[in-house]
Amino acid sequence: MESGNVVIIGGVAAGTKAAAKARRENPDLKVTVLTRESYVSYAGCGLPYYIGDVIREEKELLVKKPEDFLIDYDIDVITGIEALKIAPEEKTVTAKDLSDGAVREFNYDKLVLATGASPSIPPVKGKELGNIVTVRTLREAFAIKKLLRERNIKKAVVVGGGMIGLEVAENLVHTGIKTTVVELAPHSERQLFQSLCGIVHFFDASAVAR
Ligand SMILES: Cc1cc2nc3c(=O)[nH]c(=O)nc-3n(C[C@H](O)[C@H](O)[C@H](O)COP(=O)(O)OP(=O)(O)OC[C@H]3O[C@@H](n4cnc5c(N)ncnc54)[C@H](O)[C@@H]3O)c2cc1C
Repeated sequence: MESGNVVIIGGVAAGTKAAAKARRENPDLKVTVLTRESYVSYAGCGLPYYIGDVIREEKELLVKKPEDFLIDYDIDVITGIEALKIAPEEKTVTAKDLSDGAVREFNYDKLVLATGASPSIPPVKGKELGNIVTVRTLREAFAIKKLLRERNIKKAVVVGGGMIGLEVAENLVHTGIKTTVVELAPHSERQLFQSLCGIVHFFDASAVAR
């Protein structure tokens, strides 16, 4: 890649890896990462275990801090900023600073979208209540742990019986919470072969029973 400006939107796994790779490929590039979160480069796979107190320290989930990227790789990571508009002809990204609402424009030669995914929340009544939460970001995991601690939660329902749902359920059980997993498919953990599902049913039942 020739020299120029690389702008990356998203700063967790894909965004920070793309930024580091761009830097390794070309030391002359200007590399900027924009992310609406305040944390970057964290281990999503650790979130259920943080909720379950297996991982106790918040810092254990953080691979790098935003400022580390500038020091280690000369990559500018701008947190708390949301990309609102991409103009491919002008090669610009318009973004809003979430702290004060200020709008900024970034020029790019190459643009990387590493914006990940968002949880889908079923259209259930009361979903705006404070005790209905999603598990996707580090901030959400912090909020769940606070909720468990402050409200002395005794029972939980996990919607979604895929890998993440089961890991969250396992960790809630680990903290002494009676947990039920609700899954649309006839069996949980869709990725498993049908022949293995009997074992998973057994696991689910024992988790709920404890
Ligand atoms: C609870 C949990 C457990 C998991 N366990 C595992 C596991 O065991 N093994 C495994 O391989 N994977 C696991 N994963 C999946 C893994 O964490 C994800 O695949 C990974 O985080 C995806 O990284 P990403 O960078 O593509 O997207 P994301 O992590 O979603 O990051 C995208 C970032 O872009 C930001 N963003 C989005 N839109 C904008 C915008 N307009 N402007 C600015 N920023 C924006 C988002 O706020 C976010 O910070 C788990 C995920 C979760 C939630």
